[in-house]
Amino acid sequence: GRPARPRRELVSSRAPGNCCHHSASPRVRVLQWNVLAQALGEGKDGFVRCPPDALDWRERKYLILEEILTHRPDVVCLQEVDHYHDTFLPVLASLGYRGSFLPKPRSPCLDVEPNNGPDGCALFYSRERFSPTASADHLRLSAMMLPTNQVAIVQSLRCRATGRGLCVAVTHLKARSGWERMRSAQGADLLRRLRAITSRAAAASEADVPLLVCGDFNAEPSEDVYRRFLASSLGLDSAYRLLSADGLTEPPYTTWKIRPSGESRGTLDYIWYSRETLSVEALLDIPGEEQIGPDRLPSYHYPSDHLSLLCDVSFRELPHRLL
Ligand code: NDP
Ligand code: CA
Repeated sequence: GRPARPRRELVSSRAPGNCCHHSASPRVRVLQWNVLAQALGEGKDGFVRCPPDALDWRERKYLILEEILTHRPDVVCLQEVDHYHDTFLPVLASLGYRGSFLPKPRSPCLDVEPNNGPDGCALFYSRERFSPTASADHLRLSAMMLPTNQVAIVQSLRCRATGRGLCVAVTHLKARSGWERMRSAQGADLLRRLRAITSRAAAASEADVPLLVCGDFNAEPSEDVYRRFLASSLGLDSAYRLLSADGLTEPPYTTWKIRPSGESRGTLDYIWYSRETLSVEALLDIPGEEQIGPDRLPSYHYPSDHLSLLCDVSFRELPHRLL
């Protein structure tokens, strides 16, 4: 038999003031994951060191679902979903989630034969924890005024226990080197539209609405789009920086694979959160090189070439208002 799957630990974040801090507000657990589209994994990616049967959907789907459900997240943000209607929606709906799916306008999955339809972004939330305050916004991202092949879903929610609002977004930006300016422009478009959506929600609730933006940004922290998110007027910070010793450094990788062109390792996936209104309490650690193994990802243990990111956030106390 194969050795057991290495366990990933939930660790307390190094956020200032987080030690011995017991938040009164219930935690919101959020998962971000590029699950690897089945058609791309089998037909386009060229993962030369991955055993072909580790890519068999009939088995891989259980590993993906197990990984999503192990920690029972309240919010699930996925990219490269090409089995929404036949797998993710029915399974997650039966477990109390409500979901939304937005395929890419021209998915590369459709170039693969056979395929299971286009891939896209999917967003799920627990119906027990949240009620929707508006229907989901399905966005096609623009760059320099032109529509692109990349999308985002934005969902405004209310936490049933606390009455607090929460706005969640999922996206998957343009891949590959040479497209840095496109990613930066797509990020700018997403930020602009999030500003409009959250100010609408803030006007309705008379308070700043906390924001979570999950995505495969296809961008290292050195890229323009990363700096743009960190510096935006929405007051966002990247949750996984809090896993590092200095609290400022992203993990060394969120994806690691071997293609015919060589080995590729990078930090491309992020969970952005509103630093004024949310605090990060815990994060799922990143497996070390030993756990990932010499053939890298995907593998029998890790069904995608991207690692899942998971964190617990809590609502910060609202400042007492004058009057
Ligand atoms: P992207 O460049 O954003 O990439 C699409 C997918 O390919 C991503 O899921 C990405 O995964 C994956 N990928 C990244 N690097 C590699 C690699 N080296 N080998 C294999 N897969 C990789 O594509 P677009 O969405 O912009 O377009 C996809 C395709 O659709 C294009 O290749 C083009 O042929 C076609 N297209 C056609 C149009 C038309 O009008 N005819 C318009 C737009 C696209 P990850 O994010 O994990 O890196
Ligand atoms: Ca991919």
